[in-house]
Amino acid sequence: MPGIQAIEAGYYRIPLATTLTDSTHGEMRDFELNTVRLRDMDGLDGVGYTITTGRNGAAVDAILRRDIPEQIAGQDPDRIEWLWQKVWWGQHYGGRGGPVILAMSALDMALWDLKAKRLGQPLWKLLGGHDPQVPCYAGGIDLLLPLDQLLRQTDDNLGKGFRAIKMKVGRDRLSEDVERVRAMRQHLGDGFPLMVDANMKWSADEAISAARALQPYAPVWLEEPVVPEDLAGGARVAREGGLPIASGENVHTLAEFKQLMVSGGVTYPEPDVTICGGITVFMKVAHLAEAYHLPVTSHGAHDVTVHLLGAVPNRSYLEVHGFGLDRFIAEPLRIENGFARAPDRPGHGVDFDWNELMAVRA
Ligand SMILES: [Mg+2]
Repeated sequence: MPGIQAIEAGYYRIPLATTLTDSTHGEMRDFELNTVRLRDMDGLDGVGYTITTGRNGAAVDAILRRDIPEQIAGQDPDRIEWLWQKVWWGQHYGGRGGPVILAMSALDMALWDLKAKRLGQPLWKLLGGHDPQVPCYAGGIDLLLPLDQLLRQTDDNLGKGFRAIKMKVGRDRLSEDVERVRAMRQHLGDGFPLMVDANMKWSADEAISAARALQPYAPVWLEEPVVPEDLAGGARVAREGGLPIASGENVHTLAEFKQLMVSGGVTYPEPDVTICGGITVFMKVAHLAEAYHLPVTSHGAHDVTVHLLGAVPNRSYLEVHGFGLDRFIAEPLRIENGFARAPDRPGHGVDFDWNELMAVRA
């Protein structure tokens, strides 16, 4: 049989070294990892994955095991756009987001990995080849961390080579956020790139007050001040709050990214390759952002996303996310003097230790 020979799904629960906290997801002690492994007729493997904040991984696993294989078995793995449409429309009724788009994102990543391996190219080159050196920041998930520990975590991150850092905001009282951001600004010094992330905590009016209160500390951006559905409110926050806005980690379709950009509510679109529809959609979002003269940043899955930002001229910072997979992959991302480098290995270059993962199988 020509085409895709084997499709294998994996489902894991990864414990976190420390409890992470933000304004929406509360306390996170672990996260879920769903993987897809494809094998082509020449015996090459393509690997994709998606991540959840702790729930719905079983649904993603079921879609990858029960629904997707019959749609793609035997098909030409190089026809990625065709396969994407086939799987999208095959699951459209229950899809357009949720576990379906997470499963599709993992599948799409595996198809691109396979294609790049077939061509013997690293993804960053295959997808555009702009610059493998990508500025990155440490994405702190630290809303409830006491201030002294927040500053200690910051010093740790500086020691690891980071030259840009993001912290959470959205505590019960705005004055607490302001005090913490003020302390971080003082600790890091003027001009050090500091981002703040509210994880959709606020109404538009609350977000405008917060943005104005945080303005003296000059954050690079305020991330997700409001829910992504509130396009009008988000636009008002961008206009009246006086801070650049990052948004998009909870956006699941290209069309919704377009609406977000048209609304004027985003300065830094931040797609997540594991939930936006995969590499195919991430790249379209990045190019759409370029057309709107917007820099594109990212959320999550930094080991793969470094390639996607390395491919495009309008790339901004890569988020190095707190849901790390370092202990399960052969050569994790290395940070040096504020930059991450997309590897030159064929594909995305993420080589999972499947035996190690077996120990955390969900
Ligand atoms: Mg965020």
